[in-house]
Amino acid sequence: MRHLLWFRNDLRCHDQPALQAACQSGAQVVALYITDRAAQKSHDTALTRWNFDVRSIRVLADQLKLHGIPLLVRTVADLQAMESLFAEIHHTFNFNHVFVSREYGPNEQKRDRQIQQWCTQRQIDWHEYDSGCILAPGLVLKNDNNPYQVFTPFRTRWLSLLTQHFVPEQDALTGFYQQPPIPFDSLQVDLPSVPESLIALWPAGESEALQRLDRFITQELTYYHQQRDLPALPGTSRLSPYFANGSLSARIAVQRALNVPGQGAQTWVSELAWRDFFQHILYHYQKVGKHRAFQHHTEALQWSDDQERFERWCNGRTGFPLIDAAMRQLSKTGWMHNRLRMITAMFLVKDLWINWQWGERWFMQQLIDGELAANNGNWQWCASTGVDAAPYFRIFNPWTQSQRFDPEGTFIRYWVPELAQIPKAALHKPPSKGSLDPRYPAPMIDHDKARLHALAAFRALDQRLVER
Ligand SMILES: Cc1cc2nc3c(=O)[nH]c(=O)nc-3n(C[C@H](O)[C@H](O)[C@H](O)COP(=O)(O)OP(=O)(O)OC[C@H]3O[C@@H](n4cnc5c(N)ncnc54)[C@H](O)[C@@H]3O)c2cc1C
Repeated sequence: MRHLLWFRNDLRCHDQPALQAACQSGAQVVALYITDRAAQKSHDTALTRWNFDVRSIRVLADQLKLHGIPLLVRTVADLQAMESLFAEIHHTFNFNHVFVSREYGPNEQKRDRQIQQWCTQRQIDWHEYDSGCILAPGLVLKNDNNPYQVFTPFRTRWLSLLTQHFVPEQDALTGFYQQPPIPFDSLQVDLPSVPESLIALWPAGESEALQRLDRFITQELTYYHQQRDLPALPGTSRLSPYFANGSLSARIAVQRALNVPGQGAQTWVSELAWRDFFQHILYHYQKVGKHRAFQHHTEALQWSDDQERFERWCNGRTGFPLIDAAMRQLSKTGWMHNRLRMITAMFLVKDLWINWQWGERWFMQQLIDGELAANNGNWQWCASTGVDAAPYFRIFNPWTQSQRFDPEGTFIRYWVPELAQIPKAALHKPPSKGSLDPRYPAPMIDHDKARLHALAAFRALDQRLVER
């Protein structure tokens, strides 16, 4: 008997039910990873994320090899070509079972149904497992069996179910060794080029991820609730890239965090509940995966299509120091602090009045942790178009947010060196005249006026709803 194990965003051996199932029953196992160029393009996958995935795959291949499992890495142009690839691998290897971890986006579901059908036509059995979420979509439902659309009751129910679904903490490959069914081949995949500094910042692979988790839990988790909103401090776990490509199991992370008493751990677990919440929303409401507004009526908003404004935001040249510092952190590191993601997103949408979909796309093109459900869910939250979103009248003031979350200006001065000598008070308010420094632009917009414009547009939308 021969088994094909198809890795996607589950690049690990711990808490890996698909791998575990494939290795049971003494079958010969071959693993496969496929890059679909068309999907990558349509998902706007960042080069940084692609580089991180390739490095993670290399680490995974070495781990699998120790257990006699060859990992084939292939690239296809599109979904059609994927079928031909399966046919080719089937011809060489003659597998009769395929094992996968389930994915919830619309393209991924379509792909899996197509390949599953291809398998069924050839009497090949298809086996799917849930391990991407802490609780699989479908498990956390209201009493009437409908999905939650509001986070707080979702989290209450989610917490009440959590311990019933704890998983054993073991490596799926423990004790497994086989004679490789086909020779190990050298990985046929190029490493997309990114700056060395980025590679140093984000070492790949599951043992790195598990070490980072341990370090975070033993050293920082206790203070998480106090420090998580301050971007100048290392107050959050920075584990998101590892969760995004599955090098780290979110289930294991939660189980370990729950062993730590105190508010820090509770707050962190709650953040992981947000991750599940948005994955469940994507699963239940596939339209969000097609970049449609969750609140349909908000699609009538007439956004500005001012390309120049958008580029100033992308390039960190808005004249708002905290916004610019955050946007530069994003382009230099492939990551941005959560508080800053909220502030920059809200600024693009409510101050610059640019369609949230432009921002969503830009983030995906930059983020090492870019992930459809979390990115879309959070963008729609900030834009007040999404599920359980920020009410449209709660518009962040970028100056007071700056004062609150970077009071000393430490983060700003690090990322915007033109402002290194500016006193802290001046960093958090519009300059009385011109700009703070000749090398730095004046604020590109008056926040108070922009706020009124956004409020009026949303109110007009509400009015149209009432009149309908
Ligand atoms: C506009 C916007 C876009 C975002 N895009 C993404 C994205 O593409 N991918 C992504 O993983 N996260 C995204 N987030 C959520 C969040 O900003 C990041 O998960 C977080 O900053 C990652 O840093 P961390 O690992 O240190 O988080 P921690 O604070 O240590 O949190 C632990 C984990 O919880 C999850 N998490 C935390 N906050 C959220 C949240 N609001 N929504 C969903 N999951 C959360 C992440 O997996 C994170 O790694 C976005 C947030 C906003 C406001």
